Amino acid sequence: MLVPIWLHMRKLALHWQILIGMALGVLWGFFASSVGLVDATIDWIKPFGTIFINLLKLIAVPLVLVSLITGVASLSDISRLSRIGSKTIGIYLMTTVIAVVLGLLLVNTFKPGNAFSAEKREEFKEQFAATTTQRSTDAASVEQQGPLQPLIDIVPSNIFSSLTNNGAMLQVIFFALLFGIALIMIPPDKAAPVNAFFEGLNLIILKIVDIIMLAAPYGVFALLAGLVVEFAGDNPSSAVELLLVLGYYCIVVLVGLAFMVFVVYPFLVKTVGKTKYGVFFKGMFPAQMLAFSTSSSAATLPVTMERCEKNLGISREITSFVLPLGATINMDGTSLYQAVAAVFIAQAYGIDLDLSAQLGIVLTATLASIGAAAVPGAGVVMLVIVLQQAGIPIEGIALILAPDRLLDMCRTVVNVTGDATVSMMVAQTEGQLHPPAATDV
Ligand code: ASP
Repeated sequence: MLVPIWLHMRKLALHWQILIGMALGVLWGFFASSVGLVDATIDWIKPFGTIFINLLKLIAVPLVLVSLITGVASLSDISRLSRIGSKTIGIYLMTTVIAVVLGLLLVNTFKPGNAFSAEKREEFKEQFAATTTQRSTDAASVEQQGPLQPLIDIVPSNIFSSLTNNGAMLQVIFFALLFGIALIMIPPDKAAPVNAFFEGLNLIILKIVDIIMLAAPYGVFALLAGLVVEFAGDNPSSAVELLLVLGYYCIVVLVGLAFMVFVVYPFLVKTVGKTKYGVFFKGMFPAQMLAFSTSSSAATLPVTMERCEKNLGISREITSFVLPLGATINMDGTSLYQAVAAVFIAQAYGIDLDLSAQLGIVLTATLASIGAAAVPGAGVVMLVIVLQQAGIPIEGIALILAPDRLLDMCRTVVNVTGDATVSMMVAQTEGQLHPPAATDV
């Protein structure tokens, strides 16, 4: 009986397959925790999710390197590169600031932190004490560095060691840009074989992404099943209860994130990108689902790039430059969440934040989201810095740790959608948007 269902599934569009995988994963997770199959799920199902994420990460560094080199080389002149570069970074900053301001408006209007009772606050502090300490130690090591350390970190002293470290994406981007620029500057006859080599390599890597995506529905099933059983343990109702207490805060974050996805981006896609949001959404859906399941913009990057290129018709020249950069520095969802979380904690502690403190949050949340790595949970680590700067007690993070994974999944969707929106805007203004025929989308 399973074989015909499986055959039928394979005929569905990828985003349906992924959605079904996610839904079954959640169902299995709840079922497993209510019948005592938690350990079995962790031992026998979750590893396939880890394998799937590894496959995506495995291809991320080669993809960024090769696609950026071919992207820059195809720009064929340096002034074009600097124009597109400054435009991209400018729009990225703008969308991030919009997100932070939106978060602040929402949290100041709805004041979710005021709903906290003093006992609940103590209860959470005790429960999450250890994790909070860990997060602040992580952030302290980031804080102790000098002001120009982030700049130093971008320039690798050994490219081969950067290539072996998925966390060193900015260094890989730096090297790829340098390599691409040099490729433009040497005589065309000498550059031709190198260009041809990288173009061939690029095709191979994109094909590998296609192959990996065949496993996506099973990968997300395993990821979500693992997540649910770990969260719920043997007592699903405990997870639900915890979530209810923090529901109000979550709703404020989710409303903000939804506003970005359903109002801000559609507006930009329509007015600047000159594309219907339905087309954009349909094209991006599998990447969004993947962002949700993996909580990592870096792991989602190969698919974001592929969908932007094949389904939205953004030229490779633009996707290969704008998207890897965006996955690393543009995190609208993360910055919005940091703004809401910081003020929420202040409200819970009864601290009044004046306008200058709130403007400080705009600045630090923008910078912290740029500095946050594109991996699960990075936003929480950087939140410590936002709190410290605003004079809000760091222990307050304990209040928001419980539902963080869920919010991480949602903010990653926003991060990825924001990157795609900006790449569409840049492509349109550069005459690099060639939407495929409706039937191909
Ligand atoms: N998980 C997010 C991302 O990869 C970062 C974060 O907010 O934690 O985009």
